[in-house]
Amino acid sequence: MQKYECVPCGYVYDPAEGDPDHGIDPGTPFEDLPDDWVCPWCGANKGVIQAKSLGSSEARPQVDVERIIGGLQTRPKTTG
Ligand SMILES: [Zn+2]
Repeated sequence: MQKYECVPCGYVYDPAEGDPDHGIDPGTPFEDLPDDWVCPWCGANKGVIQAKSLGSSEARPQVDVERIIGGLQTRPKTTG
C-alpha cells in the first residue's frame, strides 16, 4: 500500500502498521484516517502529509546542451 510521509519531520505512515497508539488499526489506508488524525511525531495535520514516491531511482534532469561553434580557429604556420 501507498506510504505517506510527513514533510516537516519525516515521519512515514505505513498503512500496514497503522498508528495503534492513536487508535489506527494496522491495514488502514491513509485515505481512511480520521480528519483529526495528526502526525504522531510533530502533531501536524494531514494537510502536510504527502504520498511517498515509489521507487528509489534518482531523478536526473535532462538538459540538452547545444554547443555553438562560431568558427574554427586556425593557427597559421610560421615558416622560419
Ligand atoms: Zn510530522
